[in-house]
This record gives sequence, C-alpha cells and structure tokens, in this order.
Amino acid sequence: MCGIVGFTGVQQAAPVLLDGLTKLEYRGYDSAGLAVRNGSSLAEVVKATGKLRNLAEKIDGGAALKGTCGIGHTRWATHGEPTQTNAHPHVSGNATGSASGPVESDVVGVHNGIIENYEELKAKLLSHGYTFYSSTDTEVAIKLVDYYYKKYKIGPIDAINRMMVRVRGSYALALMFRDYPGEIYAARKDSPMIIGIADGETFLASDVPAVLRYTRDIYYIDNLQSVRLVPGEAHFFDLNGDEVPMVSTHISWDAEAAEKGGYEHFMIKEIHEQPRAVKDTLASLIKDGGIDLSGAGLTDEILAGISEIRIAACGSAWHAGMAGQYVIENLAEIPVRAELASEFRYKKMLIDKDALVILISQSGETADTLAALRAAKARGIRTLAIVNVVGSTIAREADNVLYTLAGPEIAVATTKAYSAQLAAVYALATKLAFVRGKIAASDYKYYIEELQAIPDKISHILDDKERIQWFASKYANAHDVFFIGRGLDYAVSLEGSLKMKEISYIHSEAYAAGELKHGTISLIENGILVIGVLTQGELLEKTVSNMAECKARGAYLMGITSNGNYNVEDSVNFTIYVPRADENFIASLAVVPLQLLGYYLSVARGLDVDRPRNLAKSVTVE
Ligand code: GLU
Repeated sequence: MCGIVGFTGVQQAAPVLLDGLTKLEYRGYDSAGLAVRNGSSLAEVVKATGKLRNLAEKIDGGAALKGTCGIGHTRWATHGEPTQTNAHPHVSGNATGSASGPVESDVVGVHNGIIENYEELKAKLLSHGYTFYSSTDTEVAIKLVDYYYKKYKIGPIDAINRMMVRVRGSYALALMFRDYPGEIYAARKDSPMIIGIADGETFLASDVPAVLRYTRDIYYIDNLQSVRLVPGEAHFFDLNGDEVPMVSTHISWDAEAAEKGGYEHFMIKEIHEQPRAVKDTLASLIKDGGIDLSGAGLTDEILAGISEIRIAACGSAWHAGMAGQYVIENLAEIPVRAELASEFRYKKMLIDKDALVILISQSGETADTLAALRAAKARGIRTLAIVNVVGSTIAREADNVLYTLAGPEIAVATTKAYSAQLAAVYALATKLAFVRGKIAASDYKYYIEELQAIPDKISHILDDKERIQWFASKYANAHDVFFIGRGLDYAVSLEGSLKMKEISYIHSEAYAAGELKHGTISLIENGILVIGVLTQGELLEKTVSNMAECKARGAYLMGITSNGNYNVEDSVNFTIYVPRADENFIASLAVVPLQLLGYYLSVARGLDVDRPRNLAKSVTVE
C-alpha cells in the first residue's frame, strides 16, 4: 500500500531515500518520513503530512539530514489519522513522534501493512512499562521487537523473528538498531519488499522502480524471511534465524518505462501503451498459430478436465473477470462465475473439486484476492493467477500463473493492465473452447486472428481521441452519469463507470440495461448523461430502447458502438464508433473511449489524474 525505502552505502542517504519514495508515490500515501543515521550517532527522524515535497522542504531536499544509512516511508493510514505523529518512522522509545531531530531510541522503523492483533500486544507492552505516542499498529510492532531484543538479549534477526511469530497480519518492515550503525534490518509477510545491490551500496524498497536507476538485479524477500543489509551486501534469514541463499531476478524492462516519457500523466501514457501491452501478452501465449498455455503449466488434459470456473478479483480486475465470465461461457461452455474477492473469501465455497479458481490482480498483492487464493487452495481447488507483477505473492502462491505483460503500471486508475488481463482471459477462453471441442479448428484460427488484430484496432481508436476530449470538456460539470449495457456491454459499463468515478469524482453508476427501470430510472432527470455500450448485436436494440426511456425523461444520450451496427446514430445524441471486431473480444475496444472520457474529464476538472484522492494503487489491506 505505502512505500518503504532503505539505503546503506557511501553516498548521503537522504537524497537517495527521497528519490526512491518519489518512484513509489503511485502506491498512494498521505504522509511521509525519514530516519537517517550518521555513523554511530542517534537516528534523526523527520516527518511531514501531505505530499513528499513537504518532507523534502523540511530537510532542504535531503541536504540538511546527514548520514549514509537510513529508511524512508510513505504512509497510507490504516490505524490512526494521517497526522505527523502517526507518520512513520516510529521508534521504540517514548518520543512524541511529532518532534523532528535525533531520537533516544534503540529501534527505529517503518512498516507497510496491518498488525491485526496490535491491541492485545499493546496491552502486553503497556504492562511492561512501554508507553505509546501514536495510534498506529506500527508503533506496537516496533516496540515488540525492542521488547524481545532486550528481554532475551538477542540480535536484531532473532528479535525480529520472535516478533514475526507473535504478530498476525501483513507487513513489510525496515528497522535500524542503535547498536548496529550502518545496518538495516527488514522482514516481510504478505507485503512486498525487494533489495538491490550496486557499487558497494545496498537499497531496499517496496517495489522495483525505486531502485532501477542503480541496478536491474533484484532480490525478492520471501514471506517470513528477514534480511540484514550492510553496504554492498544483504544476508537473508529464515524464521529459525538460519541464513538462506538469496536469488536474483533480472528486470528486463527499462527504467524509462517507469517514467512519464513525454506524456502529461502516467494514465494517458499507459492508455497509449495498451496496444503494446495487449500485443506482448498475446505474443507470450500464442505460438505457431496456436494458443500455448504450457508456460503457465496448463496442459490440454488439465483444461479439458475443468468442471466449472470461479473468478475472484477486486475493482477493475473484477470487471475483467466479469468480461471473462461472458466470454468463457460463450466460447467454452463452462459455467463461470465472477466474484468479488472480498466476498468470495468468506463464502462456504461450494465448488466442485475439479473447478478452477482464477485470481486476477495487477499487483499480485491485493489482500482480498490473495485471501481468496488461499481459501481456494485450502480446499484443494486448482488456482490460476492472472497477474502483472512477476514474483508477487499471488503469482508465487498460485498453482498456475499466467502473466500479463503490461509492464509497470504507475497511474492509480488501471488501463493497460486491465486490457492485458482481458487479453489473457480471451486467450484462455479460446484455448478452453478448442481443447474441449466446442469450436472447430477453423474457428480456432479465426479467433486467434481476431485476437491478434486487437492491438492495431486500439491504436486506431487512440488516433481519434480528440472527439472524446471535446465531449469531456462539454460534460466537465456533470454530476451524475449512468452507464448501461447488456451482456459483455454491461461488463464494459462497469469499467467505464469506475474510470469516471475514481479520477473525475463524478458520481456514476453502471447498470445492466434491463435493470434500470426497476428503480434507478427515478434518478433520471433533465440533462443527465446516459452512456450506452452497444456492441453486442443481438442485445443492443434492447439497450437502445432503455436509453430511449431515459431520453423521454430528459437524459442526454451517448452511444458506443461499432461500424455497421444498427443505426445507433438515429437514436442517441452523440455516437462514438470503435472498429469492428468479434463480439467476444470487442470489450477491449469499447472500453478505450470510456478510459479516455474518464481521463479527459479529470484533466478538464483540474484534478490529480494519476493520484486520485483516497485511493491507493495496490490495496494490500482487507
Ligand atoms: N498500518 C500502518 C499505519 O497505519 C501502516 C500503513 C501503511 O501501510 O502505510 O500506520
């Protein structure tokens, strides 16, 4: 959720830490802080609420905070208000937390995630004479490490391991111990953290973009591992305190891929990267004219034996799953249900033993989706992850993994990762249909060609984006918008509505078109915008009728359709055309104008497109 950075080396730590935190801004945060040590001196802590520049200003861009070893944090509050006192780093001593300067403390640390049993642990620590200055769960975890460290007179790794055994929840932690100058200690469970080593210096971060300018060889910290970082070295330990080998992963994407590359915002850059994201994802799955899922370990035998499918995901990934539900049922004739991971995880899960549970997540760290994965696995059901981040927790824990190749996605509102998820789902649907004998060889070939044509068609839509920009400027002051559609068009409506809400803050609703008249139509009044997604030949006339009902009550109608369809233009006020495509895959095209609409509305309203309020990119808490 938030961002953690750490550095121990030769150069000054504060500028490196600030730069690293900037690269992690996309993860969402409400306050930030650093702790830096100069040799064996006490750690100096500086915190600020709001944007990183508030923190940078306090320390003159880093120059005012001397030392070559430090940790940094951007916080997305879960326990306690986003105040300076609650901002990290937190300390084991009785500091007020809001004061800046050297702190008399044996342990200083930052944390990402949630300590679920913090209240019980806090009570225990209070009874041992600890006092608390913040409302965070983090302060409890740090004081617990301090407690074990002193009680058993053990080293940092052993103290951290004792803490890990005692706490419940998810966390990535980076700590500095007063007695160990120049060293950082890290540990994690269910929250990501990586290490990079270059030129005698060691870097720690929640995600790869923070260290890419120094190295491409990354060491992922595994669940329940702890690490000791010294300049130019890292040592990994298991829960027993035994040193374990470290494994490096080479990052092939370019550091520039994580930058804006000339676009005004990451979101519009990523919208333009969709043809590439879809093409790369399909290219990794289509070989010699056929769909090859062997990279994901999905043999024809496994695919033929699947009795039913559940898709569990959150947000846009759930919308990709909703599209998948229609496409897989349509092509492969397997019963599919797309479920919200946050609901699915707590259900009885009355699923056939030969079912397949698909988890879709860009980050591969989404807490509810991870829990859904574990719940399915616990029942012995095969799990398939469709994930963008290589080496993420969901990817590592699922039985099978199908990677989307969207590259790093920085904007909080997903676009290219969603499109890549759709592509992966289509490939799976087509392969399932073929393996199970639901489509002939000639159809199989046709569908693959249709899939391969998607990237160019998306490019075509992007070439004509000015019309949508114009429309957005006209509707920048809208306050209620309705998206309607049937079947796959409903799945697209859900995503279009979310894009609008999350970045333009305009209230919108997505409705299955036939459902509107069962209540919601009472909200339609003069001037309200109703957007109909009209790509499904057999259903679109019915949706147009529902739109006409809205028009009769004063609504302004926009329709998204493809060339050659029923004469939509006669019925609606404003029509957007997308290229023709097989109706199973046309969601990939219909969604693009809606992404652009959300984007341009946000720009027209002068909002922070890439970092919408209250939202985080990867939701690693429940
Ligand atoms: N639970 C911690 C807090 O509220 C950490 C939140 C985060 O991941 O930023 O401070």
